Amino acid sequence: MQNDVQFFERATPTGKTVAIVGAGPAGLACAHRLAMHGHNVTILDARPKAGGLNEYGIASYKTVDGFAQAELEYVTKIGGIEIELGQKLGENFSLDDLVKKYDAVFIGFGLGGVNALRSAGEDIPGVSDAVDFISELRQASDLSKVDIGRQVLVIGGGMTAIDAAVQAKLLGAEEVTICYRRGHEQMGASEFEQDLAVSRGVVMRHWLQPKKVLSKGGKVCGLELEYTEIQDGKLVGVGQTATFPADQIFKAIGQSLDKNHADGLNIVGGRIEVDEKGRTSRKNIWAGGDCASGGDDLTVTAVANGRDAAKDIHATFS
Ligand SMILES: Cc1cc2nc3c(=O)[nH]c(=O)nc-3n(C[C@H](O)[C@H](O)[C@H](O)COP(=O)(O)OP(=O)(O)OC[C@H]3O[C@@H](n4cnc5c(N)ncnc54)[C@H](O)[C@@H]3O)c2cc1C
Repeated sequence: MQNDVQFFERATPTGKTVAIVGAGPAGLACAHRLAMHGHNVTILDARPKAGGLNEYGIASYKTVDGFAQAELEYVTKIGGIEIELGQKLGENFSLDDLVKKYDAVFIGFGLGGVNALRSAGEDIPGVSDAVDFISELRQASDLSKVDIGRQVLVIGGGMTAIDAAVQAKLLGAEEVTICYRRGHEQMGASEFEQDLAVSRGVVMRHWLQPKKVLSKGGKVCGLELEYTEIQDGKLVGVGQTATFPADQIFKAIGQSLDKNHADGLNIVGGRIEVDEKGRTSRKNIWAGGDCASGGDDLTVTAVANGRDAAKDIHATFS
């Protein structure tokens, strides 16, 4: 990795201070651009490692060789960026604390909440969140200790579903099936990702929505799903069901904003409302990345949001 070459230089320090919540792609991009303009940045992140979903979310077969930590090293090398880990908004500090202490605040805390399956039996052991599974894998020092079922079902149609399914197959699951409630064309995962999963032996089933988790002896043994179709533009269950055996089920049905941490900020469509410059409804607070409105849940967009908000923060200091 060519991370020893620096393409940017830090300007003379300005004395201005900016707090950033979240050391994911959005927060790091914002920090780097602010540091470049000479401002002093403090990033606060709840986790023990920085990098956001690059470190804890995206499957390790995609981001190999310690990519996230190498990126972090590159970004912070410019100087003027402090990172405080284990610092959770809502527990260790509030947005009001930051507004009082810093000249500006950028929020890039992503989507921490997990959507519910809304099916009976969701809490049965053997049903878990796909992002947690990927995170466990990424942080595991010995992959042979990661539990994987023989018959794995993944519920969802986005990149998380693909990552979890491919990882499960690579770990040795005998059968891995992705069940998605809409058609192949509506899947959030790109054609490339879908092909990749199929080439690894993952089976894709469409027009099926989860209805009831089945269990035996307190552990998951299958899933009942209902066939779906579009009626008058709306997705509906048609009443006919199918049962799939499974000893492990991963939920990959999207993440949601933890609204408890959005103190007094306007929320639109489940995200923090921002304008084209990344400004929120509160003075001196900007937001970007997955937690902000108008994005598309891609790393490149989160990075662009962070950079653009930093440009605007810098402009307000001038
Ligand atoms: C499984 C999976 C696969 C993906 N695959 C791809 C892919 O192939 N290509 C692609 O472009 N995108 C992919 N994405 C999406 C991409 O990872 C995100 O769009 C991107 O990481 C968003 O960056 P972010 O900085 O907004 O948020 P995040 O990366 O989520 O970072 C948020 C940071 O905020 C911290 N935080 C959260 N809450 C708090 C709090 N209360 N206090 C303090 N800190 C907090 C977190 O610890 C984290 O470090 C994938 C996502 C997932 C889940």
